[in-house]
Amino acid sequence: MCERLKLVRDRVISACEKTGRSPSDITIVAVSKTKPASMVMELYECGQRVFGENYIQEGIEKVTALSALKDIEWHFIGHLQRNKAKLAVRYFHWVETVDSERIAGALDKYAGKEGKVLNVLIQVNIGEEDSKFGVLPKELPGLLSHVSSFTNLKIKGLMTIHPFSSKKEDARKWFSMMAALREEMARRFPHLDLSELSMGMSNDYDLAIEEGATIVRVGTALFGKRK
Ligand SMILES: *Cc1c(COP(=O)(O)O)cnc(C)c1O
Repeated sequence: MCERLKLVRDRVISACEKTGRSPSDITIVAVSKTKPASMVMELYECGQRVFGENYIQEGIEKVTALSALKDIEWHFIGHLQRNKAKLAVRYFHWVETVDSERIAGALDKYAGKEGKVLNVLIQVNIGEEDSKFGVLPKELPGLLSHVSSFTNLKIKGLMTIHPFSSKKEDARKWFSMMAALREEMARRFPHLDLSELSMGMSNDYDLAIEEGATIVRVGTALFGKRK
């Protein structure tokens, strides 16, 4: 498992070298969905500290099982229902999938109650697909101005799950659209910190970095295939 992590880190480094970026600016989120806590532990021992989960209940089980590892940072990367917002706030450090005023409001309320500040990304449906969650690009400014007033949420940037294609290079255009959108929003909302851009998965995280990703979400390449 340490070998896999080294391979992923090496690819991050070479993608950075191609575009003159610094590997220290890239966060690898190890996506552990469907994998047992013991595998998270194994990867932790290789030096990985940031993990991502898609399902609240499954995530909570692992967060709880590994609560002795104080420096793990847990990202929630699945679709979040409002009735799970309280649990997401309690167990996760980041929610990458905020895509409505409703969910943002719920997270802000519970973060306030727990006395913590939750890091959030706004999920953008960049391909405008019916099958995907996320706010449409044209709705993004409205959502950003709404959430900017929430004092218990720390807006960190944007996240996307780009349209699937069997051709890796097809992803590049979505990545560059997201980078342009992030820049435009950073200009329009100078009082917000929109420095993070979460995009790219096992198949294409190197392309995502070349186009400006600061966070890549890598599951299969670290943990092996899911059943
Ligand atoms: C499962 C998942 C990933 C990781 O996908 P891999 O192809 O296994 O790297 C990344 N992001 C999200 C939102 C996911 O659900």
